[in-house]
Amino acid sequence: MLGTNKGHHTMEYVRDYVVFDLETTGISCNKDKVVEISAIKVIDNQMTDEFTTLVNPECPIPYYATRVNGITNEMVKDEPVFEKVLPDFLEFIGDMVLVGHNIHAFDLKFIYRDCDSYFGRIPSNDYVDTLKMARLCLPELSHHALADIAMFYGISTEGAHRALNDCRMNQAVYERMGEILPQKMEAVKRCPKCGNILQHRNGKYGEFWGCSGYPECRYTENA
Ligand SMILES: [Zn+2]
Repeated sequence: MLGTNKGHHTMEYVRDYVVFDLETTGISCNKDKVVEISAIKVIDNQMTDEFTTLVNPECPIPYYATRVNGITNEMVKDEPVFEKVLPDFLEFIGDMVLVGHNIHAFDLKFIYRDCDSYFGRIPSNDYVDTLKMARLCLPELSHHALADIAMFYGISTEGAHRALNDCRMNQAVYERMGEILPQKMEAVKRCPKCGNILQHRNGKYGEFWGCSGYPECRYTENA
């Protein structure tokens, strides 16, 4: 539940998890706000519960954000603020593994930032980022947005960019990638410290292998 440490990224397919997604006023994890949060709970591969609410961001929603997700100022004006929504969300996720697309670099940063500012603690749930998983499982795709992967698998992208629809799409994509993950994992180098995959990188001093759990894990080795 809440603590002082972030959870760890784990590259695995689990049968029990919560998929979640945010819609926001923009792409800055520093200044933008959440306008919608949705989650679905999956137990033994079956969806058992869902959580979804619009959120009043207490600031105007820029037109470019509305253009992406269709969420207007009018729609959120009578909705609860995020400080009131977060405790229900945290209760919903419990200590389950979180799954989401690009959550390592985006959605979780909003959750950590706001939990820290409202409650002084952050959720420590381990998580699977399906963007990282897609880069490993589907290197043949040139783009790894959620809709690109869904289209690749023939999964419906109707209603994309509303949080609950994206959660359902994300669940389907996670399950399909889960089928090929074990064979993909066998072919990769693993971090001896944390078990995440090692990525081949080009740095100032040449090529090296770095842990994909960076910056939480700083393991590197020579290429
Ligand atoms: Zn590591």
